[in-house]
Amino acid sequence: MKKHNFSAGPSILPQEVFQKASQAILDFDNTGLSLIEISHRSKEFVAVYDKAVALVKEILNVPATHEVLFLQGGASTQFLMTAINLMKVDGGKSAYINTGAWSNKALKEAKNFGEVVEVASSADTNHNYIPKGYQIPTDVDYVHFTSNNTIFGTQFKNYPETDAVLVADMSSDIFSKPVDVSKFGIIYAGAQKNLGPAGATLVIIKKDILGNTGRTIPSMLDYQIHIKGESMFNTPPVFAIYVSMLNLEYMKAQGGLEAISQKNEEKAALLYNEIDNNPSFVNNVAKEDRSLMNVVFLLNDDSKDADFLAACTAAGISNVKGHRSVGGFRASIYNAMPIESVQALVDVMKKF
Ligand code: PMP
Repeated sequence: MKKHNFSAGPSILPQEVFQKASQAILDFDNTGLSLIEISHRSKEFVAVYDKAVALVKEILNVPATHEVLFLQGGASTQFLMTAINLMKVDGGKSAYINTGAWSNKALKEAKNFGEVVEVASSADTNHNYIPKGYQIPTDVDYVHFTSNNTIFGTQFKNYPETDAVLVADMSSDIFSKPVDVSKFGIIYAGAQKNLGPAGATLVIIKKDILGNTGRTIPSMLDYQIHIKGESMFNTPPVFAIYVSMLNLEYMKAQGGLEAISQKNEEKAALLYNEIDNNPSFVNNVAKEDRSLMNVVFLLNDDSKDADFLAACTAAGISNVKGHRSVGGFRASIYNAMPIESVQALVDVMKKF
């Protein structure tokens, strides 16, 4: 029986996407060949790639000023690619908002390439809120933030206001709601939450911010080279791109991001409502900053953690254990998570 999978990533995708993807492994579009045994430069795969890029542009309403890339190396490689492509070799300076483990890792990578100013941090309370009211210096090459904090269950509801180039790690909330892409210099996201399987990294980049650093950038890390090669400077992650394309088609058929966002709001409300009204559970995140994707919660009596996990397992619920740095529980309720699965978890909580 299919489990209710609350994994933080890699994570649930629509069942229909899994089915089509498994078929393409055996025989891709009646070609007599598997999708994963054909050249990335074949007309069949180039059509898949073009469709994936076109769907990203359509669904996210990407303006003509921006390019869409599918790269490898995960969001973690973007931590350094953003810095090496944007920070000037002489007097380079960037600003980071530190909202947890992932933004901290991004910040650490940037330090290899220039001065990094931590303009705000939520470290004082183990990252249970999104900082507000901070000043962003005007003389920076870019400002970086993590839109949704997968581990700590916080999410920016309003993006930082700045005239500087804005860079966002949207790994865990991209495609969960509409975003004004025109405000961003770079948006990047590992595919393995709302987009597709692990292995592809989506990068949306404003072309005119590139080429201004005065530094030599190794080819594989140079956005301009990947733009010129249309993500085929080297062999792209063909299967991950194909499955992402299928999932983008699915998103479009669902009515796009307005419709998806509404469903995500409903699912999150159902779960937070139970946490807030059930005396056994607590969520310590500032209410206005609660993530709609990763819902973290604790049992008031943590000696019962193992019992709760056992009750979840018995109900076919998997992957609700919290990240080791936070403890407790985390239910990741990405786009593909049906509200019935959220209800199944709520039912276990009610009974517990
Ligand atoms: N940023 C965020 C917000 C994440 O959630 C993750 C992974 N869960 C990463 C970055 C790292 O991504 P990757 O493993 O693709 O490098």
